[in-house]
Amino acid sequence: MIRPFDDTTAKHKVVIYGHPALRKRANEITVFDDALRGMAREMFATMTDYEGIGLAAPQIDKNIRLLVVGVIDEEKEDILYLAVCNPAIVDSSGSYDMEEGCLSIPDIRDTVTRPAEITLEYDTLEGERRKIKADGMLARVLQHEIDHLNGVLFIDHLSPIRRGLLSGKLKRLEREQQES
Ligand SMILES: [Zn+2]
Repeated sequence: MIRPFDDTTAKHKVVIYGHPALRKRANEITVFDDALRGMAREMFATMTDYEGIGLAAPQIDKNIRLLVVGVIDEEKEDILYLAVCNPAIVDSSGSYDMEEGCLSIPDIRDTVTRPAEITLEYDTLEGERRKIKADGMLARVLQHEIDHLNGVLFIDHLSPIRRGLLSGKLKRLEREQQES
């Protein structure tokens, strides 16, 4: 697949745990214009620069319901790039555990339980409503990034005990964020 950005595409700084943008509910997108498509391109470039597989707009301090993913498509031996606006999970099934990390919570990974398969409705960058089924890594990344649009982080899914064990690290991240 052709990369949806090039070397000249502007990149953004990803905000870190403790930044208020990560705890807000992002706004619905109503205008599907070149500015939106440019923003998506910059998010693809930023995600790739940080070696991430997904990025949501609040992570670059933009309060809109836009996320991008770039996951390996094993069948096609290629990277599947997908930009998703105004997502809604309309159906889900199964459940499985997987270790997750987050560009906004560096150096912390933990196991999160989520549905294995989802049916997703979303708008394309042109404003066309689509419906897709996703499983595996794609379903996982989509759910993680959709959480970001609702101010939810993967650590919120952990048990109080697991979160308690991470509290020292999280406090340190929060301090670093406030000082930066
Ligand atoms: Zn994340």
